[in-house]
Amino acid sequence: MLKFVTTPRKTPEKRAAEVRREDFSEIYTGFKVSEAETQSSRCSQCGVPFCASGCPLGNHIPDWLMLAAEGRLDEAYEVSSSTSTMPEICGRICPQDRLCEGSCVIEQSGHGTVTIGAVEQFITETAWQEGWVKPIQPRRERAQSVGIIGAGPGGMAAADRLRSLGYQVTIYDRYDRAGGLLTYGIPGFKLEKHVVARRVQRLEEAGVTFVLNTDIGKDISFAELREKHDAVLVTTGVYKARDLTLPGSGNNGVVPALQYLTASNRKGFGDEVIDYESGLLNAEGKRVVVIGGGDTAMDCVRTAIRQDAASVTCLYRRDRANMPGSAREVQNAEEEGVEFRWLSAPKAVLGDANRVTGVRVARMRLGAPDASGRQAPEEVPGDDVELEADLVIKALGFDPEDMPGLFGDPELSITRWGTLKVDPKTFQTVVPGVFAAGDIVRGASLVVWAIHDGQKAAAAMHTHLTAEAATKKAAADLASVA
Ligand code: FAD
Ligand code: SF4
Ligand code: SF4
Repeated sequence: MLKFVTTPRKTPEKRAAEVRREDFSEIYTGFKVSEAETQSSRCSQCGVPFCASGCPLGNHIPDWLMLAAEGRLDEAYEVSSSTSTMPEICGRICPQDRLCEGSCVIEQSGHGTVTIGAVEQFITETAWQEGWVKPIQPRRERAQSVGIIGAGPGGMAAADRLRSLGYQVTIYDRYDRAGGLLTYGIPGFKLEKHVVARRVQRLEEAGVTFVLNTDIGKDISFAELREKHDAVLVTTGVYKARDLTLPGSGNNGVVPALQYLTASNRKGFGDEVIDYESGLLNAEGKRVVVIGGGDTAMDCVRTAIRQDAASVTCLYRRDRANMPGSAREVQNAEEEGVEFRWLSAPKAVLGDANRVTGVRVARMRLGAPDASGRQAPEEVPGDDVELEADLVIKALGFDPEDMPGLFGDPELSITRWGTLKVDPKTFQTVVPGVFAAGDIVRGASLVVWAIHDGQKAAAAMHTHLTAEAATKKAAADLASVA
């Protein structure tokens, strides 16, 4: 250990941009054993590990780094999986520069952080290959059942923990495949789909029932679901896309990001996608403009490159330093041929109702900080430019749907942002026995936070269900005596 002075930081090899832009496979090849051991040995085994404080799951990072450095990968996997139900997924797609690695102290000494995410991925990938990822085998079965609405990372993490405790778990999802945004949002070049499918299969093999193509609130009422299960967990994510309100933004050829990404992911599964075949959601040969600066925008620009777009431009109204997307993803996109126009905001979509021909773009500058302390972008008058475009993708973020309306339960209390209100300790909503976790509570966030919340909510539901079972038993005992 402590080799950070003599051993330089090394990230896993990245496929060359001109090769990787031809397919949707992951761009990093992953560590080899010797690289994982050497990189882990750079850790200085801090007494107070700031990396763990930067990780939402509080992963025992120095412990599994030391075990990996010593080649004790099976033990490293045991430690790593004790706090996370999907370490190989977080290792791939967490924005580590803002989380664990952003808090690693050796960066401050100028030596570059430990490559925590890549080692985490390596450990669990090895565990899958070696058969160390064991089936979920509850020590005892419990009669109580839990219904989970939403098969994304939040719902799946909760299902893993609840089934391990012996509960009868059913997950409902309105899509035809489980995984939530891991399946239909995030593209394969960041997270290959077999990685998600493997986790779904593990839950199925443990006896978790997936009820797909089932929209709760439409196909089955929320009241019916509550009646059927002893407790319900809502992990429905946030899906109301923020819209563009510009002249021309309703023109044919202006499309929402998630629709575009879902179509691309469906094509990857071999599905027939009519709007893709028709060209509406296909960037091939087109001049593409993507509006937005978050992770979703980054996924759209890089998907368009892989669909063989004629050109791909990303418009963001602030500068590079202030963009919400991961810096690593911006760099990857630039390498792949995406042009970024910083301090640029769309003013109008050009063309007519049938066809987009371009976007009028205002130049912006950063003005005085707003209430949040962030510098507000303001227009530089008289400095507009017109960009030619055939496809405009709106990636402006997501808000929650109207949950009380959708579920026909006005009792469900929401925050002023429309997210579900829960007790921060118990994840319970104001409706007894109904819990919520993930994006529907936090607003659009990260996979690692959804996993964190799913795991915590499962623990809180266990406490609730245990107390409920004890109360019922006491009542039954009393009745039998009387
Ligand atoms: P979701 O993953 O959204 O899953 C919710 C599920 O609930 C869905 O399957 C949905 O079909 C289902 N559902 C909704 N309503 C109903 C209903 N009424 N009945 C039945 N089912 C329902 N995070 C990262 O950490 N790294 C990244 O690189 C990253 N990239 C992203 C890229 C994109 C394009 C997007 C959109 C997000 C990205 N995120 C990323 C964010 C991350 O995907 C989310 O924070 C995370 O998936 C939230 O998990 P969740 O379980 O709360 O919800
Ligand atoms: Fe880092 Fe994410 Fe892994 Fe935590 S879960 S150690 S933040 S990569
Ligand atoms: Fe190791 Fe960095 Fe964590 Fe310290 S902060 S324990 S050096 S990974």
